[in-house]
Amino acid sequence: MSTDDLRYGLPEKMEYCKKCVIPNTKPMSMNEYKHTPETKHKFIQFDKEGICSACRFNEARDDGTIDWDKREAELRVLLDKYRSKDGSYDVLVPGSGGKDSVYASHILKYKYGMHPLTVTWAPHLYTDIGWKNFQNWLHIGGLDNYLFTPNGKIHRLLTRNAFLNLLHPFQPFILGQKTFAPKMAARFNIPLIFWGENPGEFGADMSIHQKKFNSDENEGHRLDFVDPSVNLDDLYLGGKKVSDYLKEGVTYGDLAPYFPLDGKAIAQKNIEFHFLGYYLKWIPQECYYYSVKHTGFEANPVRTEGTYSKYNSIDDKTDAYCYYTTYIKFGFGRAIADAAQEIRNHHITREEGVALAKRFDGEFPTRYFKEFLDYIGVTEEEFHKTIDAFRDPHLWEKKDGSWKMRFPIS
Ligand SMILES: [Zn+2]
Repeated sequence: MSTDDLRYGLPEKMEYCKKCVIPNTKPMSMNEYKHTPETKHKFIQFDKEGICSACRFNEARDDGTIDWDKREAELRVLLDKYRSKDGSYDVLVPGSGGKDSVYASHILKYKYGMHPLTVTWAPHLYTDIGWKNFQNWLHIGGLDNYLFTPNGKIHRLLTRNAFLNLLHPFQPFILGQKTFAPKMAARFNIPLIFWGENPGEFGADMSIHQKKFNSDENEGHRLDFVDPSVNLDDLYLGGKKVSDYLKEGVTYGDLAPYFPLDGKAIAQKNIEFHFLGYYLKWIPQECYYYSVKHTGFEANPVRTEGTYSKYNSIDDKTDAYCYYTTYIKFGFGRAIADAAQEIRNHHITREEGVALAKRFDGEFPTRYFKEFLDYIGVTEEEFHKTIDAFRDPHLWEKKDGSWKMRFPIS
């Protein structure tokens, strides 16, 4: 069987990285405007030794390949170039008020003397702890923020379609969130955007030496810039063509927050896009401690379902369904994603990661199940029917009335 025959372009043999625990079914391209039910994804790359590209990227971060003092000096030069003299915003930091955006925005302002504007694309449904952390970021941390909450009717419709058509309920959120920051920078004439973590840390195909999005020397990781001559009607949102939404009375204005960037307009403004993780050695647990200290960031008192952690991505009630649907389509869930990252950052061993994955990966999230179903307007029966329709027989088999993954981690 060639991989062309497998759904989603899944690799024929599911394998786990020998160093962390990420499998070769981790998709790298899920959030594109051409994503339809037939799309074959690109996956994280493994080398000949069976080690994933995220591990290799992190090795280079830690093994002396990078001179971090030199990188910080580069950061200071860049910030000196853009720092405003009158206190107006000179850098935009997108984020939710989670540990990574807290760290990036706070350190840029209070250590490096910048004047950041933070911008937030609201979660589908705020958790109490998420809202509290978001508020503390601004009130205790001392930062300015614009919170954008998209039209709930349209956002629910797109999320519902993305669930039913793609089993990827987060796609509209991610498209909106990703393009929101550059759109706001353009609106406020802010010349610089800083994202936190480098996508290479999660296996994106990019060099450890790439500091910018969309840089000319490396096309490894690009934002979706669109030529204004592209016909918006031909794009897909939630696996459905824009022209089909228009026929049902949804307008261009309704969908505008989800549309890609106008590449020419961004180019005219000369906005630069950088990763702070290129300049400063980025360790997620350090960001967490920093956030606790400077903005009163709080971890969840309860364990997040589907994993063992308490401080990653805790602000959205629907979050667990993003990970659960990934588990169904690609055979790995949130515990594996968390464990892989902690192994790469030397907080746990691979053996510990495997044990955690066995215990928690794929656990069904019940805590906000009813709210999620209400949000997307799907019955419990429809939910499970949809889930099962997206199980590839290559990954799943039904034994004694229950589903078993064919390639469990060991
Ligand atoms: Zn790995």
